[in-house]
Amino acid sequence: MLAAPLMARVKQSQIKIMTKILLVEDNEMNRDMLSRRLERKGYDVILAVDGSSGIQLASAASPDLVLMDMSLPVLDGWEATKRLKADLATRHIPVIALTAHAMAGDRDRAIEAGCDDYDTKPVDLARLLGKIETLLGQSAGHRPNPGGSEF
Ligand code: MN
Repeated sequence: MLAAPLMARVKQSQIKIMTKILLVEDNEMNRDMLSRRLERKGYDVILAVDGSSGIQLASAASPDLVLMDMSLPVLDGWEATKRLKADLATRHIPVIALTAHAMAGDRDRAIEAGCDDYDTKPVDLARLLGKIETLLGQSAGHRPNPGGSEF
């Protein structure tokens, strides 16, 4: 029967184009919960537990979007975002800042650090997904050609 192998091939190609989200979060419970919920929505989620490994993983794995907790060990989310946005290899990746408290001025500070959007924890998944999809839609036409010369 022809249908089964065809289906398998379609599934494989779908896995290949899954949107990859890098979640940088030091709190294990938040990390597990949010990554599981995003995976259930069909995202491929990769994880980092501090700002420094977040930067390394962003360079190595080229995620389509970064969810960046701002309060992180080793290197905080503010500084990690600044470095991602200062690097030509990673600056195109949209970053959504996540902060635990809705502090007055946090939003401005996040945008100043180079974040593309901002949200507060605990995460309202529907609201966060809306922000993720908006940014992915905006960046879809602006992905650099891997291996191609931009300059
Ligand atoms: Mn944290």
